Amino acid sequence: MSQHRTRLAPSPTGALHLGNARTFLVNWALARQQGWQIVLRIEDLDGPRIKQGAAEEAIDILTWLGLDWDEGPFYQLADLTPYTAALEKLGSQGDIYPCACTRKQIEEASLSAPHDDDHERRYPGTCRPPKRVPISNQQLLQEGTALRLRVPPGDVTFVDEFAGEQAWNVEQLVGDFLVGTKLGLPGYQLAVVVDDARQGITQIVRGDDLLSSTPRQLILYEKLGLGPVPLYTHLPMVVGEDGRRLAKRHGDTRLSYYREKGVTPERILGLLAHWCGLDEQREMTAKEFAQNFELSNLPREQIVYTPSDLR
Ligand code: GLU
Repeated sequence: MSQHRTRLAPSPTGALHLGNARTFLVNWALARQQGWQIVLRIEDLDGPRIKQGAAEEAIDILTWLGLDWDEGPFYQLADLTPYTAALEKLGSQGDIYPCACTRKQIEEASLSAPHDDDHERRYPGTCRPPKRVPISNQQLLQEGTALRLRVPPGDVTFVDEFAGEQAWNVEQLVGDFLVGTKLGLPGYQLAVVVDDARQGITQIVRGDDLLSSTPRQLILYEKLGLGPVPLYTHLPMVVGEDGRRLAKRHGDTRLSYYREKGVTPERILGLLAHWCGLDEQREMTAKEFAQNFELSNLPREQIVYTPSDLR
């Protein structure tokens, strides 16, 4: 497929806030500037964290902001066959293994292993068989048993379009990561790679909270024999005054909240544009944003939201 394609991929785990909206806006504007097709994908595999109605609300709010797409929405939960097929391949190659460790067991076993709060704790390899053993299709996606990928040692390197050269040692940072959850569902890392590949995605634009996920996804591309891999653009996040990722604790920054209060999309877009390096904060439409936005002017540091921003 020679056509460039990107995706907007909201997770319906909560309402869209100013931080998510800024990332979606940049993704959308780059696509419209450069003629990439846009796929809307709803990433609804996250079991108990999925909120009823959040997918529809995200679609509604994106439309209200003036964003659009060429295909979708596609819901991951609607058909698990593509993910199961990928797991079957990994299983037959001996690249994955079942794991019934509890979170507590992993924490206890990995107490001395390096980790920081932003990364999930490194899996210490408790259930990893000494050698690669093929597993049968019946052992895949069973409730109560997770599936983990045997991660190869060494650095995974790639060049991010915004964040620059990257080298991540997945084996040391997170170890054998999840590709199937204990709920019997495909894990995020696996689902995203399967979808990006089958939907022909060539450009991924997302928050840099996912920068450390990219090397995991690149390992999966290789193990699944998929490719070419997309180009990645990871954007700095919007944080609160405490330096932590924008969330409920920073007050209500949901777009639906502003809409209810009568704040116009143009005003919100003005703030988002300002956060994207456009000089003065003035009201604008999404189209005007796309006409004026330049990725090279996007601030390299995190954006700090202050509660007075849209009051
Ligand atoms: N669904 C993810 C999120 O909302 C984005 C996943 C991705 O871009 O790979 O954070």
